[in-house]
Amino acid sequence: MAQINGKLSENPARLLQKLIRFNTTNPPGNETDCIKFIYSLLKEAGLEPVMLGKVPERQNLVVRLPGKKDAAPLFMYGHADVVTAANQEWQHPPFEGVIDEEFVWGRGALDMKGGLTMMLSALLRAWHEGVTPPGDIIFAVVCDEENGGVYGAKYLTEEHPDLFRGVKYAIGEMGGFTLHLGKKRFYPIMISEKQRCSFKLTVTGPGGHGSLPVRGGAAAKLAKILERLDKKRLPVQITPPVKMTIEALGQNMAFPASLIFRLLLKPSLTDRLLALLGDKGKFFDPLLHNTVSPTIIRGGDMINVIPGEITVELDGRLLPGLDKGEMIAQMQDLIGSEADLAVTYFSPGPAEVNMGLFETLSDILRESDPVAIPIPFVGIGVSDARFFCRLGIQTYGFTPMILPKEIDFSRLIHGANERIPLEALTFGVNSIYKLITQSAF
Ligand SMILES: [Zn+2]
Repeated sequence: MAQINGKLSENPARLLQKLIRFNTTNPPGNETDCIKFIYSLLKEAGLEPVMLGKVPERQNLVVRLPGKKDAAPLFMYGHADVVTAANQEWQHPPFEGVIDEEFVWGRGALDMKGGLTMMLSALLRAWHEGVTPPGDIIFAVVCDEENGGVYGAKYLTEEHPDLFRGVKYAIGEMGGFTLHLGKKRFYPIMISEKQRCSFKLTVTGPGGHGSLPVRGGAAAKLAKILERLDKKRLPVQITPPVKMTIEALGQNMAFPASLIFRLLLKPSLTDRLLALLGDKGKFFDPLLHNTVSPTIIRGGDMINVIPGEITVELDGRLLPGLDKGEMIAQMQDLIGSEADLAVTYFSPGPAEVNMGLFETLSDILRESDPVAIPIPFVGIGVSDARFFCRLGIQTYGFTPMILPKEIDFSRLIHGANERIPLEALTFGVNSIYKLITQSAF
């Protein structure tokens, strides 16, 4: 058994195939079988993993590769759950992990069982080779990332913070893979992310019988507010991590792109420039503003009754480092006094960025791909980094992959035909192995 597993750790594609075959679609998740499989691999290799969880079917795993204790521990983590593959047309079944000449196919190949495979393979390789890194390497596989992290990262950081004592830096998902811009190969490394801040807006007005129309009622008030939200943006705000991202892009682009990026950072010009850029500016818009999207509208439930109250829920996204109070004030300015505004959910994310490990990660990428241009970037979604930052841990998105132009990461994750090139998988294992063995953190 040990020998079979030994081989598995040397064959990342086969290991990834095994992980994909556990259907960990969340909800409901049911990650425990997958976690147990990783547990047995580590245990048979002679390491001492532990399994922890709020409930038996939603377990997490933490293991430590002992280092010399000359440096702080380095932390690597990833999630074992995946999003649904239902109602999508796949070339190969999503939970078979088909391996062909070029790719491993399946749900999670990129997000993020591929990343877990890289971390696990690199860790086992270092262990089998007797490597003793400067600091301990802590590896965690968590559940429930795709649905709020309550059973996963949130639980671990709240109930077992001691497991991560002394950690300054971590690597996690979203970053370290090729972004083709012009003829250049950029490698964005996520250094921070936006924060979720949801709102509920209530408008009221005279109700009554549907046969007797009212003017200026709740529906009419709501229409005006929704139109304002559609036409206007919240104010431009240039936050330090976004500034770093856009500056790094600008410095590595030729004219006129270099100039455009510089001007994007001038608040008086930002919105005009975004309008001129059209589709090309879409990616930068949410990095330069807090945003809200109306998603759930509830009003009357009878065709012949005019509702006296209508509520709208808004998915709000706050720029990193900003406080929700600022966003409430911006929202009130925009929607006016006709509606009642309440915050229904706020999950603070990373505030200050610590760039201490960034150069080490960049050097590794440049070693693996000599023309790599590593740049910092800010995620517009949320990840488990928001829980670990509460323990003072800076996460970098770093699951390194060299990707050909045809592979569009953002379209494949959560979509049909998710797959990872075999070359990218090897690239990732080797890069993370270098991180484990070479650097002092
Ligand atoms: Zn993910």
